[in-house]
Amino acid sequence: MGTRLMGRFLALALGSSLAFWGCGGADSTSTKPSPRQAPPDPVIVHKDAPAFNADSAYAYIAQQVAFGPRVPNTLEHVACGDWLVAELARHGAEVIEQPGLVRAFDGTILRMRNIIGQFRPENRERILLFAHWDTRPFADKDTLRQREPIDGANDGGSGVGILLEIARIIGADSTLDVGIDVVFFDAEDYGTPEWGEKNQNTALTWCLGSQYWANQPHRIGYNAKYGILLDMVGAEGAVFNKEGTSMAYAPSIVKRLWDAADRLGYGEFFKRDITPETIDDNLFVSEFAGIPSANIVHYQVQVLPMGYGPFHHTHADNLSVISKETLDAVGNTVLDVIWND
Ligand SMILES: [Zn+2]
Repeated sequence: MGTRLMGRFLALALGSSLAFWGCGGADSTSTKPSPRQAPPDPVIVHKDAPAFNADSAYAYIAQQVAFGPRVPNTLEHVACGDWLVAELARHGAEVIEQPGLVRAFDGTILRMRNIIGQFRPENRERILLFAHWDTRPFADKDTLRQREPIDGANDGGSGVGILLEIARIIGADSTLDVGIDVVFFDAEDYGTPEWGEKNQNTALTWCLGSQYWANQPHRIGYNAKYGILLDMVGAEGAVFNKEGTSMAYAPSIVKRLWDAADRLGYGEFFKRDITPETIDDNLFVSEFAGIPSANIVHYQVQVLPMGYGPFHHTHADNLSVISKETLDAVGNTVLDVIWND
């Protein structure tokens, strides 16, 4: 793990300076005057986060996929939601469920449920970690079975899987001072399909759960210092560029995440391009709720038409695209940032 390497590096540096001072102490018995030491440069002590467990995150993704597609208004969706609530509670979170009714692009009323796991709810200083837990009701970018829902192992499953593993780590470790809210937004991926009619309101057909929450958070007056969204964060060879909406609202959080990824040796995933702004949950959390939020999202503009990967919104978005190396890179990067907040 990168965090362990960094820890070892710090230990070595600290060890050598201790040895130096030890020699100085012995020297004080000699008659030679010892030169005054210049004060050391201030050292920013890097705190090691606990190691992320990609096997655990992978298992959380597999469990979600095993429920079947998590499309609002289905029994599979209800069952998976119940399981998410139970898992967060098992890890020690105080869980709040936010059920609601929202209208989809085609007029369908969706029974949605945002799920909020609060760690240290008494702490006013908070960080918001979020992902969407619903899956796309269509495979509208596929050539086959376009009207059938997808597994959503990457789109939906991966962000939730990583955050459940982070919740497990936070619940097992009492050294973190800041309060954390892990939020699973519903009804993100019910937006107007490729075959649907587009108009100026099409952007608002996405992210219905985060729009609902941003207009009426789970607690009156809720605030967080910043938010981090994980979306499509598990595919093999994933590429995370600096997403435009994140750069508009939360450039300093993007910098912290990308700097942490570099330090931990994950530069092959976290790239330097700035992509156009996307419509994703971080937009509504930033704009409506006023919490500057950064999105770690697999997105490459060089790969047309959309750059979210060839499996995006197709039946190929299943467990076979998930890579533990990618889960490790994202999980350790997020942990490093919140541990060094
Ligand atoms: Zn999607």
